[in-house]
Parts: sequence; structure tokens; C-alpha cells
Amino acid sequence: MKFGGTSMGNHDAIAQVARIILDHQRQGHRILTVVSAMSGVTDQLKEAARSAAAGDESKHYDIVAALRQRHRETADQLVSDEMIKQALFDELDTMLDTLSALCHSIAVLREVTPRGMDLIMSFGERFSARLLAAHLRDLGNAAIAIDANTLIVTDDNFQDAAPLMDETRQRVKQFLVPYLESGTLPIVTGYIGATRDGIITTLGRGASDFSAAILGAAVETDQLWIYTDVDGIMTTDPRIVPTARVIRTLSYGEVGELAYFGAKVLHPKTVQPMIDREAPVRVRNTFNPSDLGTLIQPQAEITPGAVKAVTLIRDVSLISVEGRGMIGVPGVAGRTFMAVARLGVSILLISQSSSEQSFCFIVPSARTAQVLDAVRKELRTELERRDVDRVWAREDIVIVTAVGAGMRGTPGVAARVTGALAARSINILVIAQGSSEYSISLVVRADEANEAVRALHDLIVEPTA
Ligand code: ASP
Ligand code: MG
Repeated sequence: MKFGGTSMGNHDAIAQVARIILDHQRQGHRILTVVSAMSGVTDQLKEAARSAAAGDESKHYDIVAALRQRHRETADQLVSDEMIKQALFDELDTMLDTLSALCHSIAVLREVTPRGMDLIMSFGERFSARLLAAHLRDLGNAAIAIDANTLIVTDDNFQDAAPLMDETRQRVKQFLVPYLESGTLPIVTGYIGATRDGIITTLGRGASDFSAAILGAAVETDQLWIYTDVDGIMTTDPRIVPTARVIRTLSYGEVGELAYFGAKVLHPKTVQPMIDREAPVRVRNTFNPSDLGTLIQPQAEITPGAVKAVTLIRDVSLISVEGRGMIGVPGVAGRTFMAVARLGVSILLISQSSSEQSFCFIVPSARTAQVLDAVRKELRTELERRDVDRVWAREDIVIVTAVGAGMRGTPGVAARVTGALAARSINILVIAQGSSEYSISLVVRADEANEAVRALHDLIVEPTA
């Protein structure tokens, strides 16, 4: 079971988390728990490091003080046994003092490396795991907080590290499985790992889900349950379409597309470690525990309407590379994408017209200026020779994606999707279908985004339950 930031957000929520764990333990299950930091804490840690690096000598003190107060208050509410409480306070204080010293040294150096950033951002999960473990002990259960840097071995790509599964499996067998076998509840930090040399890394923002999947695969779990603050994965954002509802079953492939294309509930890498095990994943609501949520399973159920969900990605821009001189010239696209890759920017969508006179791709808006600059530099010679006429960006756009496994091999889905937009006079700038055939993405003007989402959501056929 993995519990997200809202589920760990205050003492009431953490007490509810403990009830869920204990309920299922009583039913005879062995439970490995993975937790996120309390809501907002990771952002605060990042801000402490950032402001210190920018030369602000005082902000990080305020942030550490606020973190100390919130965690101490929560600890105080969650634990009544004086010995357990004192030990927890001591541990939190020691960690907070270390955090404060680290921020101070960043302020002195006026610099923070990605490695330093990961160390600082790892504290949130280390605090929250200790809160939950102490609460469980206070209730009379055997429970232990474990920092995942002792379990998940990663590469040294700080801020977005990738797990090394073989080594991780070995560590898990050695240091984690014995607790499960002896009936002690392990409460493991999400989000973090460490290099072979033991340097702390993080797996990327929102990656506690991924941590749970990595550990779940390593302990050969039967099921992975991701507890969040909504009833499951929705057909679309209910703020845009009030009739949006929870999707009851999805396949690994579908959820991969959904997570990638902006459904915020699940980290995109979560299903990956589960694929070999073919273990089901559930997304459930901590605050509505009797609801079974969304079941994610290996195989797809084909629904008649083919479309199961609609996502929207805002804050992106469309970069176009145009020029008649590109016809039949290999390598322009390749070099363009390499230039973008060197910036560490990931491309969300690519499309090329078969005339080869232009291609376009989508990147996060925050990086538009850098991307334009890098691509123009890379293609300088082509631009001078006028083989490439222009490299430009359109900012006022969004990606709307329809997802559903039934699209595979079903003729006419693209026609229905584009037809639905045409019926509402929404102009489509770019169309891309993933070769998985699980999704069709359309680029439209930002001011027509909500209307486009509603149009595509109307294509979803209600399951006859
Ligand atoms: N605490 C981390 C974050 O905010 C990881 C997570 O919550 O999944 O990104
Ligand atoms: Mg999350």
C-alpha cells in the first residue's frame, strides 16, 4: 500500500492510514507500506534549498521552523506513550537540525547541486514514515520506519534517478522481507533511493507511487494499492466535465497513456515494475476506504465506444521547423531532437507531414525559449542556406488526448474523435496517434481546451453495469 501526501497530510489522515493498514493486516495480509511526505513538504524543502542558494539567509530558517512545528504537532497528536513520543521528537529534531545545517551551508556556498537538492528533498518522506511508524507502535503494533536509500539502488541521475532492479531485489530480500515474515509492519519512505555508494537520490516528483511499485515487484507482491484522495482514476477532470466518473477497470497500457498525458493520479512509471508480475494495481481513496477504486490489470477490456478517458495538458508550446529544403534530407529531425534532449527537455508529442516540408513537436512552455535557441543553433547552417525557413513556437495551445484500448484496430475512431471537434467548430492544429493505438492526441487552441475536452468526453459510452 502506498499513501500519498494528502493521506499523510495531518494527524487525522495518518490515523486513518493506520486504520486501513491494521484492518487489512487483521484479515491476514502481509502489508508493506510506502508513504509520501506530508502534503506540501517536498515543495517547502525545495524552496528552502533554492532560496538559500539564491543568497537568502533567512527564508530557510523560517521553512525549517514551520516544518518542525507541523511535524512536532502531528507527532504530539499521534502518540500518547511518553517514551515513544520522546524518541520520535528526538529523531525528528536531529533530522531537522541536520536539514537546517545543510541549508545554511548552501546559503554560504550560494550554490546547490542536483545531488545536494536530492538530499534536502529526501527529508519529507523520512519525517512522515517515522510519524506513521511511531503511531502504529503507540497503538501496540510492531512497526518500523525504513529509509528507502537502504533498499532502492539507483543510478546517479539525481532528481530523476532510475532503479537498478537486481541490486534492489537483493537488498529488499535482505533488509525488508524479514520484517514482513516476522509480522512487523515496515513503513518505507517513497520517492528516494541511493546510488551504489550510498548517496541519496530521488526518483522524480510524484514518484512515491513508482517507489511502491519497485518495492512491490521486489517483494513479489500479489497486489499494489495506491491510496490517494480521490475515488480512483476519472474519465476526465471533473472541474471541466461535472459528469466525469471513476473508471472501474483499465489496463496497464491504458493507464500508461493516461498518466503520461496528464492524469495526475498516478505517476507514469508506476505500472512498469508490475508488468512482469502481472499483479493488479488499485487506485483507492484513503478517505472512502470501502470504495474499491480503479482496478488496473494486465489485459484491456474493450468498451464499445473505444474512448475511456480524456486528458488535457496545458502549459505546453508547439515548436515547428519548416522549410522546403528539408525534403529528402535525412538528419534534420534527428539533430533537432538531440538538441532538445541535451537540454534535458522531454518531448510530449511529435508530428511530421509526409511532404517532409515541416515537422513539429511539443515541449513544456517553461522551456520554450531555451528549446528555440538550441534548435536554431543546431540548424544554423540550414537556416543560413534557407533549407530551413523558420523555427518558431506557438504558445497558446493545449494537448487533448482520448485514451482507450478499443481504439486498436477499430476503424473510424479517429474520424469520430475529429468529427466531435468539428461538430463544435474546434480547429485541430495537429493530430498524433500513438503507435500503441491506445491514444489519439489533438493539439487545439488553449481557449478551446475545455470545449474540446467536453466534446471528446461525450464519446465515452457508459458501461452497462
Ligand atoms: N513527496 C514527493 C513529491 O512531492 C513524492 C511524492 O509525493 O510522490 O514529489
Ligand atoms: Mg502523487
